[in-house]
Amino acid sequence: MSKKKFLAILLSLVVLAAVVSAGVYWQTGRSTEQERSQKSDSSKSDQSVRLTNLPKGVKSTDWDLILVNKWHKKDSEINFDKATVSGVTVDQRIKQAVLDFQSGARAAGYQTNLISGYRSIQYQKEVFAGVKKNNLAEGMNDAAAEKATAAVVQYPGSSEHQTGLAIDMAGSDAFERYPSLEANMDQFDSQKWLIDHAADYGFVLRYPKEKEQMKQTGIDYESWHFRYVGVANAKYMKAHNLTLEAYVKGLQEAGR
Ligand SMILES: [Zn+2]
Repeated sequence: MSKKKFLAILLSLVVLAAVVSAGVYWQTGRSTEQERSQKSDSSKSDQSVRLTNLPKGVKSTDWDLILVNKWHKKDSEINFDKATVSGVTVDQRIKQAVLDFQSGARAAGYQTNLISGYRSIQYQKEVFAGVKKNNLAEGMNDAAAEKATAAVVQYPGSSEHQTGLAIDMAGSDAFERYPSLEANMDQFDSQKWLIDHAADYGFVLRYPKEKEQMKQTGIDYESWHFRYVGVANAKYMKAHNLTLEAYVKGLQEAGR
């Protein structure tokens, strides 16, 4: 083989190698690009929303938009003036709204039971400890008892009931059928009415049933737990199908 021919073959091998590796690089580049766009798609569905036409003057730091969940715990008691409605304690600022919500239901033909309102962190600790104790008594080990308890009781500090802005309310017939509160209560017309009209009184159904929304709230569907957020916020959240988590995040992203 002549030296010239040898060089020519060597050169074409080098070119071929370059072409092949460029192709491989292009393929890998492309697949990471695909993965990346898939990733950003799934984080988009996470809860990021661009909110427009927000209610005037509303800020994410407003008292009635306080967010308490398992990712936003409040480890010390929240201070506010308390009031009693139908034997249940709530933040004094929402007393009238609760009364109006109940009398609205009554006017539509539905009696309601107000089951629960404000609960202190201390009380939540006692509830948690009590349920865990029962689980232990049933023969579970500590870890299993803790897990089984956390599945049905909010950890102290992460329950929205400590804000005084949350109520558990049910149509009396629904409550009679499901005294321990179950999602199925929504099969009663009374509960449907409460869910459909909550926003008119400044409340939202706080833990909706769509999978994506359960991921945002960290809590399974509760057809009886309503949260006061004010009429303008409640109507906006209802119209746009937003959880409180998504709404507060959207407000923050809008610089509110
Ligand atoms: Zn509740």
